[in-house]
Amino acid sequence: MKNTPHVLVVAGSDSSGGAGIVRDIETLAAFGVKASIAITAVTVQTHKEVRRVDAVSPDCVVEQMRAALSANPVAAIKIGMLANDATISAVTSVLVEHPDIPVVLDPVLASTSGGTLLTPEAKAPLLRLFEHCALITPNLPELRQLVALGETGTPEGAAEQARHLIAGGARAILVKGGHGDGLESVDILVLPGQADQSFVAPRLAASMRGTGCMLASAIAADLAAGADLATAITTAKAFVYRKLAAT
Ligand code: PLP
Repeated sequence: MKNTPHVLVVAGSDSSGGAGIVRDIETLAAFGVKASIAITAVTVQTHKEVRRVDAVSPDCVVEQMRAALSANPVAAIKIGMLANDATISAVTSVLVEHPDIPVVLDPVLASTSGGTLLTPEAKAPLLRLFEHCALITPNLPELRQLVALGETGTPEGAAEQARHLIAGGARAILVKGGHGDGLESVDILVLPGQADQSFVAPRLAASMRGTGCMLASAIAADLAAGADLATAITTAKAFVYRKLAAT
């Protein structure tokens, strides 16, 4: 047990259990990977609304991360809700001390219910954090907000938009097609100087909160176990598909 790899989850709590750290830990447990945590914010949520967001002080986020990294064999880091620009700077300051640990960042901007989970002025610092991450996993609404280029209509158009983030320094973007339409849900991995890779699953009518948290945590779990990026994405997408199909 002592050498079981850990994923350090840097994320917010969601009292409804629909998203955030609860989903991350459930997912890591399903993959047989241990979780260490650094809580960035405590949120009061139902499945219908965000009632309150209390950001944890940035220095406490840093201390949680450093303690987790010194206590456990952390083999990957998963980042979710970051709340504000001060927390982003704090998290970045720890990541640069551990450049060899792969980081999967789910760019959480808002809850499905519409409540804001990242302050608007934190968008630019969030974009600067991307270069420290092995993978960024925006869904289509998040991609639109991050690149501010409007709707594209096709997965290929979205992948083209993701190239703007690569040009800005991001190392890999997985554009998730779950919010698109069509019979298939197509995720596209965009890497600098390489052909795009598609990951396809039948589109399910079901919807569930927290699938973004689950996918990023599942990818981090696989990376912690030594998988390459494309294999980790394939396994993680199949995991989320099975969870959605079971709802
Ligand atoms: N709340 C927290 C704390 C989250 O981290 C996230 C997403 O990562 C959400 C809510 C949003 O989840 P959903 O879009 O499924 O509502």
